[in-house]
Amino acid sequence: MSDTMEIPAKPLPPDTALSRPYWEAARRGRFMVQGCASCGKLRHYPRLLCDACHSTEVNWTELSGRGRIHSWTTTHHAFHPAFRDELPLVLVTVDLDEGVRALGRWRGGELTLGAAVQAHFALQGAHADLEFWPVA
Ligand SMILES: [Zn+2]
Repeated sequence: MSDTMEIPAKPLPPDTALSRPYWEAARRGRFMVQGCASCGKLRHYPRLLCDACHSTEVNWTELSGRGRIHSWTTTHHAFHPAFRDELPLVLVTVDLDEGVRALGRWRGGELTLGAAVQAHFALQGAHADLEFWPVA
């Protein structure tokens, strides 16, 4: 592959009826997740059924975005050419205060298990990327 080849655009998540409320809120900087309308359990990412009671009824709920680092991975290889200039790319898994887990880009320095973080949505054109930043 030549360096002069055009780099394809980053792949985007599919726009589906199930996930659309999440992405619409994310573009406004709000972290919304599904809450089961039957038993109240929160879930993320958007899914058709509640894994506790199998209800399909949903109330969307806004999260604080606060949480703690559960784990992370550092990627040194671009699995898509559009990410080549962003390496190494660090993804963190965060246990959010409301009891759900989320994956996002790490925007801090040193990583520590259990460290407090805050979610933030970064607009990338018409898309919003979930990022986590350290809390002082
Ligand atoms: Zn439920």
